[in-house]
Amino acid sequence: MSRWPGSDADAIVVGAGPAGSTAAAYLARAGLDVLLLEKSTFPRDKVCGDGFTPRGVKQLIDLGIDTRAEAGWLHNRGLRVVGGGVTLELDWPDLASFPPYGAVRTRQDFDELLVRHAEKAGARLHEQTTVTDAISDERTGRVVGVGGKEGADKRPVSFTAPLTLACDGVSARLALSLGLGKRDDRPMGVAVRRYYTSPRTHDDYLESHLELWDRSGSEPRLLPGYGWIFGMGDGTSNVGLGILSTSKAYGNTDYRALLRSWLDGTPEEWGFREPNATGKPGGAGLPMGFNRTPHYREGLLLVGDAGGMVNPFNGEGIAYAMHSARIAAECVVQAMARPEGMAREHALRRYPGALAEELGRYFRLGNAFSRLIGHPAVMRTATRYGMPRITLMRFVLKLLANLYDSRDGDVTDRVITAMTRLAPSV
Ligand SMILES: Cc1cc2nc3c(=O)[nH]c(=O)nc-3n(C[C@H](O)[C@H](O)[C@H](O)COP(=O)(O)OP(=O)(O)OC[C@H]3O[C@@H](n4cnc5c(N)ncnc54)[C@H](O)[C@@H]3O)c2cc1C
Repeated sequence: MSRWPGSDADAIVVGAGPAGSTAAAYLARAGLDVLLLEKSTFPRDKVCGDGFTPRGVKQLIDLGIDTRAEAGWLHNRGLRVVGGGVTLELDWPDLASFPPYGAVRTRQDFDELLVRHAEKAGARLHEQTTVTDAISDERTGRVVGVGGKEGADKRPVSFTAPLTLACDGVSARLALSLGLGKRDDRPMGVAVRRYYTSPRTHDDYLESHLELWDRSGSEPRLLPGYGWIFGMGDGTSNVGLGILSTSKAYGNTDYRALLRSWLDGTPEEWGFREPNATGKPGGAGLPMGFNRTPHYREGLLLVGDAGGMVNPFNGEGIAYAMHSARIAAECVVQAMARPEGMAREHALRRYPGALAEELGRYFRLGNAFSRLIGHPAVMRTATRYGMPRITLMRFVLKLLANLYDSRDGDVTDRVITAMTRLAPSV
């Protein structure tokens, strides 16, 4: 039951992906009455690479998810990087802040696991509920709920709550309904993936290919991005590629054709050919480096992809969706324990501040990195000269995957910490 007379809940969470289910679980666990509104019905698929670095696994552990192999997770020990004629196997770094293993799990499976976790904590899930817009208080402009359509018959519904968390992914429909568009000064990515039956399904490493050539024009072009091959352990591999918006190729490339042409160049015996495909290719945008702000405005918090929280260095989004959800939930719980008005607003304004503190500087560095590798010459030189240098590549792995100890780390950790401190936080 809502603690607030006249409201349907203490908080409304829109979207039950990693951001929404995580936020709903933390909020419900703290005793808030949470409505979790999701347009689809579980189990459902989500276009993704299905890969978790140790940063993603840490978020699962924090939330209380069993990450053992016995619980259905396929662990990996690091990243295999292929490029510049060299293949390197880089183990995940040994750190105080993160576990030493990554994982894979299909989103079909993972998102259902997470939403059930939120329900068990007490969140009230409404499936088949598409939110179309925010309801604002006419006098103050504050968001006081959402409207949408529910069920097979699409009947109009509305729900009210003192606070709403927009966790509706890259489409960010709720934020858009309030005029919060995406920022053009921040990078975007596009990624496509497809599943294939493959003998490479069992792999101790996540594999990434740094050289993606677009051979569709008269001159081959090296693209800023990478291809991945993630063995799912169930007879299939999740294979895909992601490209950054900072290159000329962005927006005028046929990504599915590019995936096809890259895979045609891989060894036949890996199986990445049409007859072994188990479904159609799927693609979506990757909103990066805080590309939608402000993350809080009266009554509404943007979380995960809705707030542009994909890492610009490597395209990882699940860890950041869950991390931002945890921060958002902490702020909401503190806010709801205060009387309505300035005191509560104060606690809520902490959300963008805390995000900036924890992720802002790193993302700003990533935004600069994405602009740099948008130049083919930089990308080519980095691959050619970086790859043969193992110590350098260990450092690069830590930087690109955001895996370092900011306190009491080794020399490379201290260098990354210093680099991020130099970057602005917003
Ligand atoms: C091809 C590809 C590969 C990727 N690979 C990886 C990877 O390997 N590892 C990684 O960490 N990240 C990866 N990402 C990024 C990752 O998928 C996202 O960052 C992550 O899913 C963000 O979580 P979220 O909860 O913010 O949004 P989403 O996962 O998109 O969840 C949003 C939820 O909201 C629901 N919804 C949307 N609109 C509405 C509405 N109007 N009303 C009600 N519900 C709504 C959706 O149905 C969905 O359930 C990849 C992305 C792509 C496109």
